[in-house]
Amino acid sequence: MIEYENLNRTNAFFADDLKAAFARTLESGYFILGKNVETFEHEFAGYCGSKSCIGVASGLDALVIALKAFGFAPNAEIIVPANTYIASITSIILSGFKPVLVEPDIRTYNIDPSLLEQAITPRTAAIMVVHLYGKPCDMAPIREIAKRHELKIIEDDAQAHGAEYKGKKVGTLGDAGAFSYYPTKNLGALGDAGSITTDDDDFAAACRQMRNYGSSAKYKNETVGYNSRLDEVQAGFLSVKLKRLDEVNAHKRALARLYLDGLSDQFIKPVQIPGCEDVFHIFPIRHPRRDELKAYLLENGIKTDIHYPIPPHQQTALLPYFGSQRFPLTEEIHQTILSLPISFFHTPDDIAEVIRVMNAFAL
Ligand SMILES: *Cc1c(COP(=O)(O)O)cnc(C)c1O
Repeated sequence: MIEYENLNRTNAFFADDLKAAFARTLESGYFILGKNVETFEHEFAGYCGSKSCIGVASGLDALVIALKAFGFAPNAEIIVPANTYIASITSIILSGFKPVLVEPDIRTYNIDPSLLEQAITPRTAAIMVVHLYGKPCDMAPIREIAKRHELKIIEDDAQAHGAEYKGKKVGTLGDAGAFSYYPTKNLGALGDAGSITTDDDDFAAACRQMRNYGSSAKYKNETVGYNSRLDEVQAGFLSVKLKRLDEVNAHKRALARLYLDGLSDQFIKPVQIPGCEDVFHIFPIRHPRRDELKAYLLENGIKTDIHYPIPPHQQTALLPYFGSQRFPLTEEIHQTILSLPISFFHTPDDIAEVIRVMNAFAL
């Protein structure tokens, strides 16, 4: 059986260092906003090439806190891809703003820059880009449009730690970046965790205050804030795993290369775009008989996953917002997409086996 993901096997590569990090935190007796968080924030900002990193409790909180810290008008509209994980859209609603969905480019699955201008209204305050499945968005036209309309750019970097656009890491491509360290992400904690990256000192200070009860000095609360602190235990784990993030990404890229070269043309494979260094959080292919293909692979001992089976605008939670709207490209992607095994523990032999079985799928 070739598994899709197995966190025991993935974390086994880091086990000794994770145990040592836990022991150090336990002995320190310090669990909230201490040295580990400060150290990881410094290390991750350095890794991305951003001035600041602010650790928070989850990827969703990173998005919500960043959106709120911009101080947009209460009725502001935020442009967001229709083809994303629901959290991108949820964060806008939870922040009190209005999400405006834009269709993807069917080749990249990321937001289509040529559709942005028609979605802009006088109330538009920002564009949220999502580097979905680990592939950076086409930022040059997006940045040009944002600049011309005086819009902020917030990146949802939850699936793209270490991905690069024209030599710059995600998290530095807009005004703020939001990362998730959910355990299965390319950089994953052993629980929930997230962070915000930015080059703007005032914005960073606002995020720091908002994650900690609106407080910058002990027992002084200047704004109504959240309790959304990255905890010390997780920060210690993240420092351990950050040291090997490039190795994880290189491994996933090597496996992706095997799929790209080996899979037959009956499968629609991820496109390779010069200047966009994909980290393959997920390796998605598309096929018109996706469900049949998934069942066939399982019969042959290969587990796969679907990211995602239901588009956000058709989720029960979001019907009140988008019930009458259609996003045909997003729907097409959700109906045909399949994620193949591409974890840190998978070997080239595993991938060769997946390719062999896939290519024998009857047309
Ligand atoms: C995982 C993910 C999130 C949310 O992260 P959590 O840490 O689970 O809150 C947001 N956006 C995208 C695209 C994600 O994949």
